[in-house]
Amino acid sequence: MRVFIPRESISSETRVALVPESVQKLSALGIDIAVERGVGLDSYYLDTDYEKAGAQIVSDRATELGQADLVARVRKPPMEEVGRLKSGSIHISFLDPFNESELIQAFSAAGVTAISMEMIPRTTLAQKMDALSSQANLAGYFAVLKAAERLNRILPMMMTPAGTIAPSRVFVIGVGVAGLQAIATAKRLGARVEAFDTRPVVEEQVRSLGAKFVKIDLGDTGQTDQGYAKELTPEQIKMQQEGMAKICAQSDIVITTAKLFGRPAPKIVTEEMVAGMKFGSVIVDLAVESGGNVVGSKLDEEVQIEDGPRIIGIGALEDRVAVHSSQMFSANVYNFIEHFWNEESKEIARDLSDEIFGGCAITDGGAIVHERFK
Ligand code: NAD
Repeated sequence: MRVFIPRESISSETRVALVPESVQKLSALGIDIAVERGVGLDSYYLDTDYEKAGAQIVSDRATELGQADLVARVRKPPMEEVGRLKSGSIHISFLDPFNESELIQAFSAAGVTAISMEMIPRTTLAQKMDALSSQANLAGYFAVLKAAERLNRILPMMMTPAGTIAPSRVFVIGVGVAGLQAIATAKRLGARVEAFDTRPVVEEQVRSLGAKFVKIDLGDTGQTDQGYAKELTPEQIKMQQEGMAKICAQSDIVITTAKLFGRPAPKIVTEEMVAGMKFGSVIVDLAVESGGNVVGSKLDEEVQIEDGPRIIGIGALEDRVAVHSSQMFSANVYNFIEHFWNEESKEIARDLSDEIFGGCAITDGGAIVHERFK
């Protein structure tokens, strides 16, 4: 089997789908690996490191795309490259499948098995392949650093001869993977942290990190069997907003991470709530790529509200720690390949009845095979 890792097509993307360490582990399985020249430079992995790990460095991207049995990358491929892939090959990446029906059609027409990293099931067995989690974790961490750097205050309490500085107040809205890491990071930096999520099961986790869970009674909320939040009714959203306005007004940093799997993010922080926040405070909207939780947040922009907060809407904050986000993504890809590797036939076992494989394979054998996208 031949694996090819092309350079990412989106210029702002700094991650790479496979780091040298994983190349070495895949080589040990008897897999040939080719990487496009300079593939890891933006995440600080050199071509020479890839060569040492056993990869072949190639410059002719178009030819390689047509030859490889498996192509892996972080972001979805550009449309024009899907047709170049070899029929019968496998393509692994984030695909944004809920918004990319044309791309899915193209994979199907090309006879390629398209694996969507977003669709890896949230099960214990699949955790090692779960790139949504591995990346969200780092985004949550970096959101706090970003906010701290833009804030005109310090986070911890300081008692000095010149006086006492009160700790900054951080409010985390949405306590999934990213939110938990944001809470933990803000706590480590000494902030006073509060958090809210519509899934009541989260309360205990928030408390165990030493943060305060904000209680807002919204009635029935719950979660899906995959652990994702259910969409709130307009009345529930309004109750939530009223309950949060005061906490936002007291906070120095608000970090929003609330997402709804496969749907646009809920708008939680209204214009009024933004206007009620302190001058010099900071909001980081981690849901900005799926529409945003904050009214007024803009993708890849910082918006300064007059006499109010600064709203930071940078997408994929995990890009800023590309060494580790690549290392984690790469481990997810390696674990996927290794899990389905058939030692005898020296290829990946494509068993659509397998919970994991069938859960994340969108197209196979010239057809759209995933129930949600048929
Ligand atoms: P996500 O990125 O889809 O959403 C982030 C958080 O926003 C979630 O906690 C969600 O409940 C919350 N949210 C949605 N609407 C909200 C609203 N209106 N107000 C406040 N919060 C709102 O979620 P995620 O981080 O991908 O993870 C969701 C859950 O899945 C977590 O409990 C996580 O522990 C679990 N999980 C399980 C596994 C596994 O078992 N293998 C792997 C990863 C995650």
